[in-house]
Amino acid sequence: MVKAIVGANWGDEGKGKITDMLAQDADIIIRFQGGANAGHTIVNKYGKFALHTLPSGVFYDHTTSIIGNGVALNVPKLFEEVRSITDKGVPMPKLLVSDRAQMVMPYHIDFDKFEEERLGKNSFGSTKSGIAPFYSDKYSKIGFQVSELYGDPEDLKAKISRVAEIKNAMLVNLYHKPALDETELFNTLMEYKKMLDPYVCDTSAYLWKAIQDGKTILLEGQLGSLKDPDHGIYPMVTSSSTLAAYGAIGAGIPPYEIKQIVTVCKAYSSAVGAGAFVSEIFGDEADELRRRGGDGGEYGATTGRPRRMGWFDCVASKYGCRIQGTTDVAFTVLDVLGYLDEIPVCVGYEIDGKVTTDFPTTVKLEKAKPVLKTLPGWKCDIRGIKRYEELPENCRKYIEFIEEQIGFPITLISNGPGRDDIIYRKK
Ligand code: GDP
Repeated sequence: MVKAIVGANWGDEGKGKITDMLAQDADIIIRFQGGANAGHTIVNKYGKFALHTLPSGVFYDHTTSIIGNGVALNVPKLFEEVRSITDKGVPMPKLLVSDRAQMVMPYHIDFDKFEEERLGKNSFGSTKSGIAPFYSDKYSKIGFQVSELYGDPEDLKAKISRVAEIKNAMLVNLYHKPALDETELFNTLMEYKKMLDPYVCDTSAYLWKAIQDGKTILLEGQLGSLKDPDHGIYPMVTSSSTLAAYGAIGAGIPPYEIKQIVTVCKAYSSAVGAGAFVSEIFGDEADELRRRGGDGGEYGATTGRPRRMGWFDCVASKYGCRIQGTTDVAFTVLDVLGYLDEIPVCVGYEIDGKVTTDFPTTVKLEKAKPVLKTLPGWKCDIRGIKRYEELPENCRKYIEFIEEQIGFPITLISNGPGRDDIIYRKK
């Protein structure tokens, strides 16, 4: 059985924690899109970890972790990350890398930096991990697939020259930087080959067999619905699809095998990077939520930069859940809201004088003003509670109100960062 764990919002919903938790009963966990640009923070018996490329199941010795073909594979980062967990006593994960995954090249990272510098105040707020240049090249058919490391070296050298010709035109003329060193690029790719060699295989064939054998497989998404290039807040989106449906492509499995789609939805909002954020709050109110948020504050797992904060957005989350094809909502970081007397929730968008609960395209979104409804707070710490009925009444009311607004069942409630901080609720 295949389950997808994906985000309903702008990312940072707590997918890592939910994946780590569901991985207890899973055999295989796959990353199917994105790269080292976003991070999952996980707290478990080994400590606190920020993962960027490895799937969140790497902490168990019964699971196999797969880097799927849809991922932007930064080879040195992957192995740095493996080292960072094994150094803290985590057993070496069983790792497989798709022979169809493409690699982030050193110049992708440079291009990302140069372009953000060029854009200045109009920049996208990229993490400068090379993700947009990587995916642009993949779809321009000038990317480097892992399998190409195993072909004729002369062919690879010829391809490097072809690609360098295009890259150099931009490097020299647009960014005024030195041209690429082709020999260095070839040598770098050969180093990547050495590093990857023990792990490379046809992961799609491996997964096909695993599905036939009845294994439990998790697809772990990065970022959330609103950062999807088609269905999100284009152009302030990421460069690969963040949707569960893409899991089939980015892992190489039949779409009909994805039986459960757990959409992770955070009890308040946070976002990174530029773009419309209707329920955003500012000043002291935002600072307090940021400081209390997540596990140790709402700061980027990759960049450390403060996240933008906002109240729960029913319009965006209803849409975010729908576009994922949600079967279950995991409602996270609810414990954080325990300090508030009253909790505002965004229940509609006012656009040109009309109120809507349908999430619009970007042009309209930029004009949207939040319609807020205020719910009473519960003013206590709900960590440690294991049963839904034991939650304070106002807390249950908050959950039930949001469930009704978004229209998808909240079956998991996360009330702390740890694996066991979870409350199961029947549909
Ligand atoms: P991801 O990218 O979706 O995995 O999310 P992040 O890792 O960026 O952000 C989630 C943060 O919230 C992490 O620091 C988690 O440890 C933490 N977290 C997850 N679930 C909960 C929860 O229910 N309560 C609290 N307080 N923190 C949580």
